[in-house]
Amino acid sequence: MKYEVIIGLEIHTELKTASKMFCRCSNSGPQDRPNTNVCPICLGHPGTLPYVNQTAIEMAVILGLALNGEINQASKFDRKNYFYPDLPKGYQISQYDLPLVQNAKLSVDNQEIAIIRLHLEEDTAKLTHPHQKNYSLADFNRSGVPLIELVTGPVIKDGATAKKFCQKFQQILRYLDISDADMEKGQMRCEANISLQTPGSFVIEQNEVRPRNNQELNAKVEVKNINSFKAVEKAINYEISRQAKILDEAGLIVAETRGWSDSQNITISQRIKESAADYRYFPEPDIPPLHLSDEMINDLRAKIVELPEAKTERFIREYQITQAQAEILTGDKYLANWYEQVMAEVKNLGAGRQAGQTTANWINNELSKFYPLNNFSAAATKGKISPVGLAQLIILLENKKINPTGGQKILRHLAEHGGQAGTIMTELGLEQLVDLGGIEGKIKEIITKFPEQVAAYKKGKEALLQFFIGQAMAETKGQANPQELEKLIKKILQ
Ligand code: ZN
Ligand code: MN
Repeated sequence: MKYEVIIGLEIHTELKTASKMFCRCSNSGPQDRPNTNVCPICLGHPGTLPYVNQTAIEMAVILGLALNGEINQASKFDRKNYFYPDLPKGYQISQYDLPLVQNAKLSVDNQEIAIIRLHLEEDTAKLTHPHQKNYSLADFNRSGVPLIELVTGPVIKDGATAKKFCQKFQQILRYLDISDADMEKGQMRCEANISLQTPGSFVIEQNEVRPRNNQELNAKVEVKNINSFKAVEKAINYEISRQAKILDEAGLIVAETRGWSDSQNITISQRIKESAADYRYFPEPDIPPLHLSDEMINDLRAKIVELPEAKTERFIREYQITQAQAEILTGDKYLANWYEQVMAEVKNLGAGRQAGQTTANWINNELSKFYPLNNFSAAATKGKISPVGLAQLIILLENKKINPTGGQKILRHLAEHGGQAGTIMTELGLEQLVDLGGIEGKIKEIITKFPEQVAAYKKGKEALLQFFIGQAMAETKGQANPQELEKLIKKILQ
């Protein structure tokens, strides 16, 4: 690649408040019938007066603190004027020059990504355009829902990092319990500004891309309609190669807004950007300026829970697990708590430290078949496998009472019927045979059924050992301890 890629993200997230940003209407989301959670304020009737939702302010401050941002204790709302059918007032109440939060940051793969600002605003109505109909529908349930907008600096260089940034941001929103931030449901919407520049033609100063020595910079393109994490990466990568191809052919990049098409895996031109849109921002006259006291900020700071990064580090120390294992477990707050409950019980039952690894592996590889890790809390709250149940199973494994095959059978039984791991082990006859003395004759008998393989093994084809183990394991219905069985077979074959 002979260009440098410059990416900045803008992310809008709906906050999980009980009511809307500037009125008392319920913020209960799209499950309600269209246009049922509305009032003159969020319908934009003239003469109505907005009042600020305090919880939304608190959530924004907590988020800003969690992202190590500076809180503007003197802040205000502004009117952003534009006309569109989803905004009958003709303006959106947003924040212009005094956003609640400035200069925050979030690290991805040890790279600190600058967050220029976080501000509060109101969502617009949701428009839908029925296929092949000559009208559109507007649902004002969404109008006035509190939104937090995040803007990163132009410091991201590839689609994978952008995707990880969105994922980490979602984790933090969920840890703080201020949004479910589900991209598929439109609760979190990501837009990417992408340009490709010739190395040396620009500098990034104060989070702005500036030309060097009066060189002409290539235009940037804004990509919208990105509805999943996967699409963040795909849309950006597509756009990078599209722009590179144009530049390779000495073409000109058009400054425009493009939409990502999930079905076609391409971006499509939506509209050409006029030179810097003029929204004629001015202070919202109906809302007095905000003054946030030190006391309020300190109280909110005290409410911040342990965040994914800190939790990951603690898990590595406390449970002796790997970074990768810890990141999977802390990727979801509920899953992380669940793991800690299992570990507390495992310790009660007297297991050593390596149980941390075993438990992490069993959650990632086996429990995930019943409780998908990307939807863990929903599955685990309904399911029959409890932290105590899994802890008992881990203890059976650690004490070599069962082998992994037996463990899988017990887990399946737990998932279907619940119960105690130890009882299931006895009922299903899964207790592992460690002392194989009693079945030595039986195993000799099995091996002599394969004279050719025995001869080949003795000539040095050692891979056949697994074959004999498999045969013998089948005979003991999987109950033999694999290490003991291997020792015994090696002895027989000598
Ligand atoms: Zn309302
Ligand atoms: Mn916005």
